[in-house]
Amino acid sequence: MAKKPSIQAPKGMNDILPAEQPYWLSIFDAARAMCSFYGFQKIDTPIVEHTALFKRAVGEATDIVEKEMYSFKTKGGDELTLRPEMTASVVRAYIEHGMQVWPQPVQLWYMGPQFRHENPQHGRYRQFHQFGTEMFGDDSSAADALCIFMGYSLLRELGLKNLVVKINSIGDDACRPNYIKALKDYYKNNSKKMCALCRERAKTNILRVLDCKESKCQELAAEAPQMIDYLDDACKKHFKGVIEFLDEAGVMYIMDSSLVRGLDYYNRTVFEIYAQESDGVTLKTALLGGGRYDGLVQEMGGPKTSAVGFGMGIERLIIVMKELGIKPAQSGSRPDTFVVQLGELAKKKSFLLFDELRRGGIHAKATLGRDNIKAQLRVAHKFGVTYALIIGQKEALDGTVILREMNSGAQETVPVEKIVRVLSDRLGRPLPPLED
Ligand code: AMP
Repeated sequence: MAKKPSIQAPKGMNDILPAEQPYWLSIFDAARAMCSFYGFQKIDTPIVEHTALFKRAVGEATDIVEKEMYSFKTKGGDELTLRPEMTASVVRAYIEHGMQVWPQPVQLWYMGPQFRHENPQHGRYRQFHQFGTEMFGDDSSAADALCIFMGYSLLRELGLKNLVVKINSIGDDACRPNYIKALKDYYKNNSKKMCALCRERAKTNILRVLDCKESKCQELAAEAPQMIDYLDDACKKHFKGVIEFLDEAGVMYIMDSSLVRGLDYYNRTVFEIYAQESDGVTLKTALLGGGRYDGLVQEMGGPKTSAVGFGMGIERLIIVMKELGIKPAQSGSRPDTFVVQLGELAKKKSFLLFDELRRGGIHAKATLGRDNIKAQLRVAHKFGVTYALIIGQKEALDGTVILREMNSGAQETVPVEKIVRVLSDRLGRPLPPLED
């Protein structure tokens, strides 16, 4: 057995090897196309931020801030943190760049790594990636519904068919205090039946008690007062509006009063999207989570701005795609041709040939480190190409290339400037336009 290298990737952080890349690329491409269609613009923010940003935005009494942040002090004395989520960073950027004067709504999307010091397990990593959207300056139910619909449509487009949206409203500052009071009373009367952790949570962030995974806490949560009964008229109307959009759009959803999400900044709509097991009943892990956060921009020092967004976990999505046997759209792809080059001059000329092929949309491979024709043709066979292109000293001087049919071995000489048209024709591709 091979000896383990003494230095390995940090625990819970993974390499994404070439064989995995087709999944990542197909998700990125689908996400980009979806965002562009709905008018979302890409944003990138630094991977580290001031620790205070997450403490304030995500909330001191959350799992992320309490236990999961990679925080450190720099040599210059700055307290920084590897970002554990993106909404806080995007809100910071919105304020810092005065995006409130841009035409509203400001619609942004991102894709990148996040870091949480969690216990690594299947589908839970310390470095993981999210694709997400944030929409600022639109307080309508339609904005929430569009967010959900985009996530849902993207997952469907990637081949996931049995999806369920879990949705809830956690009210707002006007109506939630009444609910919190009712919840506190309920749990005070039942404190003996709670797990030890929830007894602690109840003191700092009572809502989190609702999504505890302990069975006795889940039983308690099932009987607990429900936010939906405490929503004021404005929140009720907003929530009803979101549901109506989902109904019209044919999105499968279930209302789940225990869904509160672990971050402090949410108000009104919160949601998660799950893939269903083949039994059509059981839910796999959450692929995406999000909600409305109308108070956050102001809390972070910006103007009063409504906002809604979601984050989708790419690793989990890929796990589910594989479980369901879904192949990524760009599955690594077999090259169209293989360029065999013989001798130094041919090797040098082959760069121009590559450029000609690339611009003509023909996907070519080569092994520039090899000189032997047989070895190169063997590699061409391995790639499974129907035609190879051979360029030797004579062809390099003539400006031609040999087109070889791999199966029969039949060869013909073609001028380099015609090779794209000839190959496209043989491969049954639409011919590129003639250049003047
Ligand atoms: P959150 O930011 O916690 O709302 O998470 C949004 C989505 O990111 C989840 O639905 C997961 O798909 C994914 N996610 C969150 N934490 C992790 C993790 N530690 N490892 C892998 N994926 C994660």
